[in-house]
Amino acid sequence: MSKTHLGHTARKRFGQNFLHDDYVIEQIVNAINPQNGENLVEIGPGLGALTDPVCERVDALTVVELDRDLAKRLRHHPFHGEKLNIIEQDALTLDFSTVLAAREDTQKRLRVFGNLPYNISTPLMFHLFYFTDSISDMHFMLQKEVVNRLAAGPGSKNYGRLSVMAQYYCQVMPVLTVPPEAFKPPPKVDSAVVRLVPHRAPPVDVTSVNTLERVCAQAFNQRRKTIRNSLKDCISEQALSELGLNPGTRAETLSLQDFASIANYISAQEV
Ligand code: SAM
Repeated sequence: MSKTHLGHTARKRFGQNFLHDDYVIEQIVNAINPQNGENLVEIGPGLGALTDPVCERVDALTVVELDRDLAKRLRHHPFHGEKLNIIEQDALTLDFSTVLAAREDTQKRLRVFGNLPYNISTPLMFHLFYFTDSISDMHFMLQKEVVNRLAAGPGSKNYGRLSVMAQYYCQVMPVLTVPPEAFKPPPKVDSAVVRLVPHRAPPVDVTSVNTLERVCAQAFNQRRKTIRNSLKDCISEQALSELGLNPGTRAETLSLQDFASIANYISAQEV
């Protein structure tokens, strides 16, 4: 399969798999349902597979593209160039709150979407979680496995740190599965689109989100161990029992509320 699409040779280091299936593209744009006047932001517009149909519906779109050649192409876009506000930057280091602050109507939080570069999708999710106050919703194409992890609940083999943190910050709704043939070049894995809607109020009370993240990372880094062992550096077996948790259980059985209880207990000890 040729790696060249619309005169551009796909760059593996930028995770470039370009969408070319019109039906899939239409379904994604319908799921986003972009409206004029919204603060829309696309991550990784590439050759415009989503950019073009979105620009047909709205007057303005901010795009974040790291590949200099693709950003240049977009700048000279024959139809939509004028509508685009192009940020030529790594989305992983972009302060999304400044993107909102630069918009005319800062009351309308950002609507972020994109067919994301798969090589950075998990760190990018964690980066975006920091800006959920500035974001009203997100629609992303990701590896199907990552969407499964985002949506997984306790007891599932896909349940992990990403699930707990994603569900702390957002409501997670898988939208559709996309086969490799919808892309050029085709990725080696199935893909899926997910809608993430940041909670306006967190679903559980957490004193320190950093502590929650630390507890999740520690518990799931050693997911085969019981929490008595994986968390022994930060909480005693007795304290786990006092919180109503079985120290002999594994991280994958704990709910978001359980992780929040552990994190809040640790935060209270640290003051
Ligand atoms: N949206 C296009 C499509 O659907 O055909 C391209 C999607 S392609 C999977 C990922 C896009 O993200 C590419 O345009 C790539 O250059 C861009 N990209 C890769 N890493 C990036 C980063 N760190 N920040 C912003 N854009 C990035």
